[in-house]
Amino acid sequence: MTDPATAQTWTLTTPVEELPGVTEIRAAALRRMEIRCLAHLIAHLPSRHQYEEAESAIADITVGRLVTVRGEVTDTRAVRAGRARFEAVLLDETGRIDLCWFNMLFLQDRIHPGSKIRIQGKVNRRGPRLQIINPKWEWIPEGAEGPINRQAHIRPIYPATEDMPSWAFERLITSVIDRALPLIVDHLPDDFRKERALPTLAEAYRLMHQPQTMEDLNNARRRLVYDELLLLQLGVHMKRAHVRRTLHAPALNWNNAIDEHIRARIPFTLTPGQEEVIREIAADLRKPTPANRLIQGDVGAGKTVVALYAMLMAAASRHQAALMAPTELLAEQHYDSVSRLLRGSTLRLALLTGSVTGIDRERMMRGIAQGEIDLVIGTHALLTESVSFHSLAVAVIDEQHRFGVHQRATLRERNADDRSIPHTLVMTATPIPRTLALTIFGDLDISTLRGLPPGRTPIATRIMPAERADEVYAFVRNRLDQGEQAFIVAPTIGDDESLLLPEASPEQGTRDVNSILKTLREGPLKGKRLEAIHGRLNRESRERIMDRFRSGQIDALVATTIIEVGVDVPNATLMVIENADRFGLAQLHQLRGRVGRGKTASVCVCITSAAPTPGAEARLAALAATTDGFAIAEKDLELRGPGDFIGARQAGAAPFRLAEFPKDMDLLLLARRDANLWIERSPLLATDADRLIRSRLMKVHGQSLGLVDVA
Ligand code: ADP
Ligand code: MG
Repeated sequence: MTDPATAQTWTLTTPVEELPGVTEIRAAALRRMEIRCLAHLIAHLPSRHQYEEAESAIADITVGRLVTVRGEVTDTRAVRAGRARFEAVLLDETGRIDLCWFNMLFLQDRIHPGSKIRIQGKVNRRGPRLQIINPKWEWIPEGAEGPINRQAHIRPIYPATEDMPSWAFERLITSVIDRALPLIVDHLPDDFRKERALPTLAEAYRLMHQPQTMEDLNNARRRLVYDELLLLQLGVHMKRAHVRRTLHAPALNWNNAIDEHIRARIPFTLTPGQEEVIREIAADLRKPTPANRLIQGDVGAGKTVVALYAMLMAAASRHQAALMAPTELLAEQHYDSVSRLLRGSTLRLALLTGSVTGIDRERMMRGIAQGEIDLVIGTHALLTESVSFHSLAVAVIDEQHRFGVHQRATLRERNADDRSIPHTLVMTATPIPRTLALTIFGDLDISTLRGLPPGRTPIATRIMPAERADEVYAFVRNRLDQGEQAFIVAPTIGDDESLLLPEASPEQGTRDVNSILKTLREGPLKGKRLEAIHGRLNRESRERIMDRFRSGQIDALVATTIIEVGVDVPNATLMVIENADRFGLAQLHQLRGRVGRGKTASVCVCITSAAPTPGAEARLAALAATTDGFAIAEKDLELRGPGDFIGARQAGAAPFRLAEFPKDMDLLLLARRDANLWIERSPLLATDADRLIRSRLMKVHGQSLGLVDVA
């Protein structure tokens, strides 16, 4: 008699309830896991694999050997007298063995006559019988009992639920895999696949579900990880190809005269790193293709003049440029330094922040729209508000380390000509780990600003417990006496506002700006000129305080992380971070980067609260270990996971199912290169040969990458 299920022809879309042995309960459990058809089932990969030793028949085991045995418990006994122990008798079809666990009386609640277990241990003789003392043991799941596994094997362990346990997956998949795999058509062309020594998709699934060796698993994994990375890279490159074909940006002029003109504004010799990055940017900006470039350089590497150079290129071609900073303070500072550099020039500069309101704001907006203003410096709000430009050629987004990729997109609708978008430069002082840069920002070109401007001295970093704060401030006092200046940073202002990490709660022990200011004024720094600066002060007050600090009329600033990015005062040589355990690693590195900008050796002291968490200790240790921002970024990624970086979540970068970094870096590079070439050859994947990969791509990334309308 033919089983009706097997009599039918299966396809990959055959519903799971039509597969053999799938009961109503199982089918419902599968559906709850979004496994609805055969393809879903085959794609349900083991979350891990377990190596299982070969099992012996009890009749075959001999004294002194380490054995694995499975059987049924027939008798148990808890012995309290003497040395407490739990004893059990285990039977298989061939014989009997005694088990004994010392000091584990609780086992009597778990192992009963009738229990089916697998045990492992070394065989002793006890009188006429064989015995194993303190064996390792595990349940044999109900329904998974079977003949003795005489060979060691690798068992897949599946993501499972109560109604659909791992062994049921194993059994179901085993029963369908031979018929399912031939239905899978590989979306990679054969030659292409063989050149990369990858198994076919069907083979990869076979090896994942039924590996014979660890090598099998590696091969299977390589193929599936490669697929995952290739599809993402194809999507990203396809989108970028689309932008290049349909949108354009103003092609800017660049020649010796312009170059000299711009350089005349820069009061120092550019570092080789700056020269290199400027060359890369200038080459981008001369093309009518919208540039999309990430400029990463460590804190203090000198990114601002690089941005200025790009902005002045726009101005030289009679276009506009915008520079966006994450905070008002920073926008103000950029405005000041750019104004200083452009003193005497005819360029018109505007500072547009939330503090500019009413008629002033309207007038400024009109000036921008009519092209009367050449350079606009503002906060990131410039992006989100309805600022229209006359002809925006260059948009620089500075210190971008905490906002989403999608925000870049809003710049697209800024110019009157809706096919024209500005060249975009994103500058980050929190270098993004290379992995993430390549994956999330697959559509960005990357320039790395290497080296620091000359004359910097390395910063020493110290971690101190709160009990020793007095020593720290005595040291600070000493250095202030010699004319140096200090930043003292606290996580909160002193009322309700909290800048803490989510993991931290504002319990006692948190010191705030206002109370620190008070304590220092009355105690350790009495007589020194101290001021507080934070986001609650209005712009004029902040500017006044910063000016006085810059010109040396203030000895120490007690601040929130408002000074985290960009603030540049070379005479400030001391950074004290209170409650340092409350800050993220990248943030600590940013804060430390506020010092070490002059010739005097700088010090960063992190004061920890009474009992920092292990996570906090790891962050502080990493900070003390290096001043290399790239190393810190990698460490931060390791400690926090990728979700927190640059809106990684919005960018959809986190949900890799299989790929892991840095482990799969080589596959990522391969996939990236392949995707690049592929899209160059076939920009829309519209040829017949690309039909399969294209439909896979649309299915996986069509929506999230907005590819649907591209095609
Ligand atoms: P960041 O990359 O952190 O934004 P900045 O652009 O603020 O760094 O530069 C840090 C400091 O280094 C500033 O005071 C700037 O004027 C100075 N600087 C930048 N480039 C050079 C250079 N080539 N030579 C000397 N000083 C420089
Ligand atoms: Mg900067």
